[in-house]
Amino acid sequence: MKTSRPIRARIAPAAILHNYRLAKRCAPQARAWAVIKADAYGHGQWRAVEALRAEADGFAVLECENAVALREAGVTQPILLLEGVFAPRDVRAVVEQGLNCVVHCSQQLELLVRHVPAGAPLAICVKLNTGMNRLGFSPATLPGALELLSRQLPQAEITLMTHFADADGEAGVDWQVARFAAMAGDWRGPVSLANSAAILRHPSTHRDWVRPGIMLYGASPFAEQSAEALGLKPAMALESAIIGVQDVAAGERVGYGGTFTAERPMRIGVVACGYADGYPRHAPTGTPLAVLGRRTRTIGRVSMDMLACDLSDIPEAGVDAPVTLWGEGIAGTVPADEVAAAAGTIAYELFCAVAPRVPVVVDQTAAVDRK
Ligand SMILES: *Cc1c(COP(=O)(O)O)cnc(C)c1O
Repeated sequence: MKTSRPIRARIAPAAILHNYRLAKRCAPQARAWAVIKADAYGHGQWRAVEALRAEADGFAVLECENAVALREAGVTQPILLLEGVFAPRDVRAVVEQGLNCVVHCSQQLELLVRHVPAGAPLAICVKLNTGMNRLGFSPATLPGALELLSRQLPQAEITLMTHFADADGEAGVDWQVARFAAMAGDWRGPVSLANSAAILRHPSTHRDWVRPGIMLYGASPFAEQSAEALGLKPAMALESAIIGVQDVAAGERVGYGGTFTAERPMRIGVVACGYADGYPRHAPTGTPLAVLGRRTRTIGRVSMDMLACDLSDIPEAGVDAPVTLWGEGIAGTVPADEVAAAAGTIAYELFCAVAPRVPVVVDQTAAVDRK
């Protein structure tokens, strides 16, 4: 619903395509599953699909229903179910729609064995737990799983995959790659290892299929390296406007709990954006935003529908002045990663949290850059 309240999430499909191409340039030998789970990290699954359908090698989703909807919309690329099947009807869809599915445990393998018709074509990614300790077969359970597969579903095309716990951090990926190699033994089939961080930082992990997620949306997987420095373009801007201005005297407190006290006379702007819009309530005083092309900071606690900012040095900004909460927006550029860091979270969570009440505008003007 388009509302008169000024908050908007502006989505730039051209940026998603730019970022996908960057992933492909980083991993030129690999094919890429464009990860569009969680409604394309809050950007809208269909917007991401439209942006990428001419070029993506494949799409990765969570829910079987979404994969089927993609097929029904004419998407012909491989579609991967990242958590595999949950129920017999998912198995039927996998077979009917030719979906690729992760198999991460023996119960899932049993589901497939029981419900895949004899000889029906099947493409699966067998997931190995190499130290994330979330999903995947262990060194103890993998041989049995592969043996069962070759016996019961000999037609299955198998890719071995794993997921990195710290591709963006200190521990890196070598220890998990070593465990993967030990588990895979003399495996010669296809392999899929790399998320965004590994695509950007660990070329040896690129192998056959990479799985870019956050980088498609223009945020950095790294705490210490900006999206801009990586060549990524932000695909979402959260924008709003000033709806009220208060001139406060020194000693006045601002917002719920009065957690901020003005040490000198200040001009406070009130922005139509609060935690019910998906802005993080834990963002402290000092979280960056931009007003009328100038960078400033939030003041006091974020409320449900509003937050306050410092306009003391932006006297030209009054009611109706445009605001960029994050992204490359009408009022300036504020990296989502910086907002996230200030609020003690990551851009992934900011994007996914944008509330349904926030109207979306799709930026059709941004030219798609040439290959
Ligand atoms: C979400 C997900 C990805 C994408 O991770 P990013 O850090 O967003 O690049 C890759 N692989 C799997 C299995 C995932 O669940």
